[in-house]
Amino acid sequence: MLMRVVVGVLALHFVSLLKGEEKLFTEAPDWSVLDPFQKKITKSKFCKLLNEVYCPRKSWYSSWIEILNDRARIRKTGKLDSWYDLVFDNKENEGSKFDFNKTFLNTRIALDPGHIGGKYSLMEGRHFSIGEDPPVREGEICLMVAKNLEEKLKAVGAEVFLVRKINEPVTKNRPEDFTKEATSWLENRNSQIGEKFSKEQKLKLIQNRKEVLFYRLSEIHSRARLVNERIKPDLVICLHINAAPWKDPDYPSLVQRNDYHVLVNGCYMGGEIADDFQRFEMIHRLLNGWHEKERLLAEEISYSFSKRTGLPAFVYKGPNAVKVGKVPGVWGRNLLANRIYSCPVVFLEPYVANSIEAYQHIQMGNYQGRKLVLGKLKKSIVEEYAESVFLGLKNIYGQSNL
Ligand SMILES: [Zn+2]
Repeated sequence: MLMRVVVGVLALHFVSLLKGEEKLFTEAPDWSVLDPFQKKITKSKFCKLLNEVYCPRKSWYSSWIEILNDRARIRKTGKLDSWYDLVFDNKENEGSKFDFNKTFLNTRIALDPGHIGGKYSLMEGRHFSIGEDPPVREGEICLMVAKNLEEKLKAVGAEVFLVRKINEPVTKNRPEDFTKEATSWLENRNSQIGEKFSKEQKLKLIQNRKEVLFYRLSEIHSRARLVNERIKPDLVICLHINAAPWKDPDYPSLVQRNDYHVLVNGCYMGGEIADDFQRFEMIHRLLNGWHEKERLLAEEISYSFSKRTGLPAFVYKGPNAVKVGKVPGVWGRNLLANRIYSCPVVFLEPYVANSIEAYQHIQMGNYQGRKLVLGKLKKSIVEEYAESVFLGLKNIYGQSNL
């Protein structure tokens, strides 16, 4: 299920307050990290990626990025009139094409099972149950998929790393560690918009905030440290299962819609570009040329999901996603994980867990062989999911050593 991007500006300030080894950011991004990209990208390529993938509305970036003839000027901080100048490559060829090792051998793949699962799944809002049926916990299904996929990929020679191996947090922090941050967040919010809450409401808001800081921010930043500093993979695959909003959360009833989609990083909206760290990460990803690889992988996996599951591709209607390329089901979105993992990231959202079809399939468990699911013979949802991803990857990496 998608992590809603509610992290925004305040969130990143909180991150700088995280204690000890969780501390990731100091005061500002280090723009000199972009220096090696001077004169490496042509103006046309930069503008194409910016306008078609990373920021589809000029009005969202025009106060932050100026495109001149020979350079892009990027505002370093919202506080000062200080700009980073990125000089374009003036040879108007398309520059060097981004290429990578297309064999499983020596390819390092990190599998990131979404969410935490276990006793945290209710808190994360990635848990539901209907009647006496066993609860559906997204984090746990994603971990089963990761383990299944790990075996398949190792068998063909890939180096595979699981970002988490159990249904427990990667971060050492817990919600209680964020009492101070959550309290000052509410005080700030109240002083800005003058909200008046009862004592009970305040306690509830503070509790929710503490939990979000734990299971989303602290957790994903801890995973990012693991990915960026220890695993250093060639790509990360984030495994999730989507869900549709309940019509009436008090009386959950299953929906008809069951579909899939695959995300690459993109579509930074106005408020996100206005955040110094997000603006920096966007430019950093653009200049690394990761989009090309993300899109190729996303497209192959999307084809594979369509073929293997027969599901239709999901279509976004709102401004928070941008269609990239022509393959149905492949979209750009700016999520915390696909932004702060420093390598190409493909983020998978197959199935609608609370659809009639997927729910039935999930309830049947992680079985061997094929069973009838609503009249169709199917492998378990875990096997079907892992196989879809594997077949997509095989189309790219499996040419020379299978
Ligand atoms: Zn999810």
